[in-house]
Parts: sequence; C-alpha cells; structure tokens
Amino acid sequence: ASGQEPALVCSNVSRWFGGLHALKGVSVTIGRGDIFGLVGPNGSGKTTLVNAITGFYPPQEGSITFEGRRLNDLKPHHIARCGIARTFQNVALFRGMTVLDNILMGRHIFMNPNPLASLFYWWWAQREEIAHRRKVEEVIDLLQLESVRDEHVDVIPLGLQKRVELARALCAEPRFLVLDEPMAGMNQEEKEYMVRFILDAQEALGLTVLIIEHHMDVVTAICGRILVLNNGAAIAEGPAREAIADPQVVEAYIGK
Ligand code: ADP
Repeated sequence: ASGQEPALVCSNVSRWFGGLHALKGVSVTIGRGDIFGLVGPNGSGKTTLVNAITGFYPPQEGSITFEGRRLNDLKPHHIARCGIARTFQNVALFRGMTVLDNILMGRHIFMNPNPLASLFYWWWAQREEIAHRRKVEEVIDLLQLESVRDEHVDVIPLGLQKRVELARALCAEPRFLVLDEPMAGMNQEEKEYMVRFILDAQEALGLTVLIIEHHMDVVTAICGRILVLNNGAAIAEGPAREAIADPQVVEAYIGK
C-alpha cells in the first residue's frame, strides 16, 4: 500500500559527468513504507539517482529530502546516519572475513570514533557492544544466515553473498533501504528466496525500500509504484504493471 506521508522526495534532480547529462531533472516522491521500483535500460541513470540520494555523487541541481531533511550537502556517512542504507550492484563484501564479521560491519555507523569514550566510559561501550550483538543476531535470524555465520564470505554461493550484504545494510537499522540490483546473477531459486527475504525484512522492520531491478517478474511481484528512466529522464511513473506497459517504456526497451 502506498504510504500517505512521503519518506523521500527528489525534485528536479540533475547530475552531469563531464559533458554527459546523466540525470535530467528527475522528480519522484516515495511514500513511507512503500517498496518502490527503479527501472530502465542499461545506462539510463538508475545507479546515478541512487548515488545522488546516498551522497556518493550529490546532485548538481534540484533537491533531495528524506523525512523532510535536505540531503544534498551531506556526506554519505551522514546520510547513513539519517537512516538510509544501501547495497551495491556488485557484491561489496570484505573478503577473507566471516559472514558474521561482515554483518557486524553494518554497525560501524554507530561506533564512537573517540577512543576516550571507550576508555572512560567502558561500561557504556559494553552496553553498546551488547546492542550491536543483539541487532546482528536479530538480522541473522530474520535472513536465516545462522548455518553460514562462521563461513568466509568468499566460499559461499553468490545468492548467499547478496543476502549477507542485505544483512549488513539492515544492521545499520535503516528506515530507508536502497537495493541496487539485489538479484543480479542469481538463479531462479535464489531470486525467489531474495524476494521472500526482502518482503520479510520490509514487513518486520517497517522499511521503505527503493529497489533497482531488471527482472520484471520481480518488479511486478514486490513493487507498488515504479519510476522508469531512459537516457537520464523519467519517462513513466505509477503502479508497476501500468508503468511497465506504457508505450514509451516498451519503446525504450525495444529501442536498446
Ligand atoms: P544505470 O544504473 O541505469 O545502468 P548509470 O546511472 O550507471 O545507469 O549510468 C548513467 C550514465 O552515467 C551512463 O552513461 C554512465 O556511463 C554514466 N556514469 C555513471 N556514473 C558515472 C561516473 N561516476 N563517471 C562518469 N560517468 C558515469
């Protein structure tokens, strides 16, 4: 169901890379609690929009607000602290580390960079440590990663690696979760598992989700509304099935 209260609002967002106009005045409103799809052919600007929202490549024009707060001038780690977490298109796990340690890394946004804090307030630090562990256990449980928690991430299948990334993002306790092609490279069974876990996490944690997704069966199965980009511009927006069937959208895909 579409939330009444907007979680994220992009107004006229533009981004250039040199002479390339990668995002052309894109506006979109994402309701709280929605699973919102971002769709479009390769190179249409989907990751660029996500990079603008998460602060990796801030917009050069337009504004982005989350829960009423302007994000434009914030660095990625500040945006993370506002309650926005993301995963990446290519698996970005810490090689040579276990599943558990990778998930625990999701907590680093809360960790106090001041070593004095842990020296003089060791008791407080200990309490924090317990909170970290508790959240990690909750997420491991939710995403059913118990049986691989002590495995090195390098040796587990891709489907599980993507799930570990999702777990790491959830450990940061986001209210807004951005997933950049979470099913890329997965087989049918892995895709179905991932769909299930995204829906479970969304419901259990009350998240708003923005998902870049190429598989149209997945889009229609989990997304309420979607935005379709082509050559950096929004060409359709609305309920998933309707927007996908829009003649301009069909044309954009066939034209590629
Ligand atoms: P999509 O995610 O829809 O496949 P992208 O947002 O990755 O598309 O890319 C949109 C366009 O912007 C592409 O032409 C791409 O080459 C360009 N682009 C994206 N990021 C950068 C960057 N960091 N530097 C230069 N060009 C970029």
